Amino acid sequence: MARKTADLLKIVPDLLYPRRCPFCHDIAPVGLEACPSCLKKLPYVGEVRCRKCGKPVDSTMVFCDDCMKTRRFFDEGRAAFRYDDLMRETIRFFKNKGRKEYGHVLGSMLYECAKDDIARWDADLILPVPLHKAKLRQRGYNQAAVIAEELSKSSGIPMRTDVLLRADRTAAMKSLDAAGRKRNLTGAFRVTEGKAALSGGCVPGAVILADDIFTTGATMDECARTLKAAGAQSVYFLTVCIGGGEETIF
Ligand SMILES: [Zn+2]
Ligand SMILES: [Zn+2]
Repeated sequence: MARKTADLLKIVPDLLYPRRCPFCHDIAPVGLEACPSCLKKLPYVGEVRCRKCGKPVDSTMVFCDDCMKTRRFFDEGRAAFRYDDLMRETIRFFKNKGRKEYGHVLGSMLYECAKDDIARWDADLILPVPLHKAKLRQRGYNQAAVIAEELSKSSGIPMRTDVLLRADRTAAMKSLDAAGRKRNLTGAFRVTEGKAALSGGCVPGAVILADDIFTTGATMDECARTLKAAGAQSVYFLTVCIGGGEETIF
């Protein structure tokens, strides 16, 4: 009897506040975070990926075109999913339709994909890519921080939101082309009072940056450049999705 009551209590929150599946947005089956049928069709990034940024590549390639052409400041990173139409909708609901809870499901799926890399990187801190203040006010949460929080909970690596911040100067970014954005990003971030956290005594630390999407990598690179200038030795990144094309700056 006691066991039955305990089982029942576990599903009460689901009955009172039904969870939505982050991939079809319908009510998820009781006790599950997503529909089993949706989980089967997720666009996971396979094993054949760029050794630097984790973008899917041809089996003959070690690095993607972008990583061959561009100097990267981050050491290595990866994503869980390709940014296809399904994931584009999921991220849109997560960021722009108030489905903050999707971030917890996506963050724990990202952890499952990347746990071997996380163990190998041996990082001291997880840092979310910071959001513009205006955007934070409008949305009410930084989507990168929701993902970072979940990665931190699963890995046991502490998360800090006071180490890396936005410098208020990238408002006009939307109208720039890719090259313009990259130029414009220089100096877009700053390391604050948490600076000491980056170097534990004489051994500079390793950091994992977390965000929702990696596109051109310009944002991630500028974060990594800023962190390394402040004393971080290694900078890795984890994102839920990875895709080509336009850099998403929010
Ligand atoms: Zn579903
Ligand atoms: Zn790459």
